[in-house]
Amino acid sequence: MTTIAHHGPPGPSGMISVEEARARILEHFSPLPVEQTPLTEVLGQVLAEDVRASFSIPPMANTSMDGYAVRAADTEGAAPSTPRELRVTGYLAAGSLFNGAVGPGEAVRIMTGAPMPDGADAVVPFEETDEQEHGRWSDAPRERVRVDVAARLGANIRRAGEDVRAGEVVLAAGTVLGPAQIGVLASLGLDHAPVHRRPRVAVLSTGDELLRPGEPLRPGKIYDSNAFGIAAAVRDCGGVPTILDVARDSVEALTARIHEALETADLLITSAGVSRGDFDVVKEVLAREGEVGFWTVRMRPGKPLAFGTFRAAGDRVVPHLGLPGNPVSALMTFELFGRPALFTLLGKPEAWVRPTVRAVTHERIVNPDPRRFYARAIVRSDGDGYVVNLTGPQGSGVLTSMALANGYAIVPEDVATIEAGEECDVILLGAPLPL
Ligand code: AMP
Ligand code: MG
Repeated sequence: MTTIAHHGPPGPSGMISVEEARARILEHFSPLPVEQTPLTEVLGQVLAEDVRASFSIPPMANTSMDGYAVRAADTEGAAPSTPRELRVTGYLAAGSLFNGAVGPGEAVRIMTGAPMPDGADAVVPFEETDEQEHGRWSDAPRERVRVDVAARLGANIRRAGEDVRAGEVVLAAGTVLGPAQIGVLASLGLDHAPVHRRPRVAVLSTGDELLRPGEPLRPGKIYDSNAFGIAAAVRDCGGVPTILDVARDSVEALTARIHEALETADLLITSAGVSRGDFDVVKEVLAREGEVGFWTVRMRPGKPLAFGTFRAAGDRVVPHLGLPGNPVSALMTFELFGRPALFTLLGKPEAWVRPTVRAVTHERIVNPDPRRFYARAIVRSDGDGYVVNLTGPQGSGVLTSMALANGYAIVPEDVATIEAGEECDVILLGAPLPL
């Protein structure tokens, strides 16, 4: 296929905004099919169906304390000066059922989580008995127990269904599965969950200058950092990356790699070869193999961007995101375009948005041209407002400037300078450092 689709006319300056680029990209993404997936693998994935409880949790009343299951009435008036003595008729561990019932004047020694024996309506914790005097960890059977405190009816009992009631929707479709949600699914006895499957993302670096880390450095060459940074970012967004072998700047090499990617990938992410005035073969091959638009996005770093689609076997359409080659630009464009795409595939299209705060800049931030500048920054907070510093030189090849950052300070398109002491928006990547 040789069509080149330039997705609509660019703006007056020949550039499109970040928002417009993102909107055009996201048109091509929707949640992936649903798969029953083992609980051990669903962290960060999204439930595709409501999950109902087929039984209550806890299924039966049980004790929330180690102590003695009693009839509350038997302890009425108990106090250190007027203790009550009860006859111990049994010992009950969590996981066992008591064979019998607690009668008047009786108590069953019971461990946290053990089901309440019939007849008992309160639990007196060890601390309110003479248990300690008998040795805290002593399991030697006892005939009698002294109760020093009157028990309230129902004290220290977890009611059946206190957590979950049989039949109710416990987690609704659309829930993002974190540790607590996964724990809830397990508590319902489920070992799989219906989730939108994870996107398989092929990550392809292009360029004759690239060496794979681990190879000896040779004159004129650099290591391929993009593939590893992008693959990590993909994983961070819940995707499953596959790093393909570097495509050399030849039509054959690149064509072969693309076909390899199309066999399994839901998304192909390439880096490099998409600049204006770039005569890399990348553009030629992309245009020949699929439909692609080459955009200039009003942002820094990361102005050039390609987006398109390939047709794979079985009429599958595989979107392609062509990131710029400079390492900072590649990761920044992934952040702004790749991350939303992956989150959409996972079924949580809003979740890519990171928190943004207003911060006072400690230094002057200069925006060299009318593009939105995402400056790599260190954000600090004393809990009462934020301050921001740049991480150092901001060139798009200076990857360490990104490695030091916990935020991106934003200088709008139409602002040339933010002076020290002025405020700006900052995207938070992680927790602010202490001031
Ligand atoms: P290009 O878009 O091909 O002109 O590349 C722009 C810049 O990014 C050049 O300095 C490339 O050497 C560099 N570059 C391209 N790909 C990578 C990569 N995978 N890892 C590190 N740097 C790269
Ligand atoms: Mg190149």
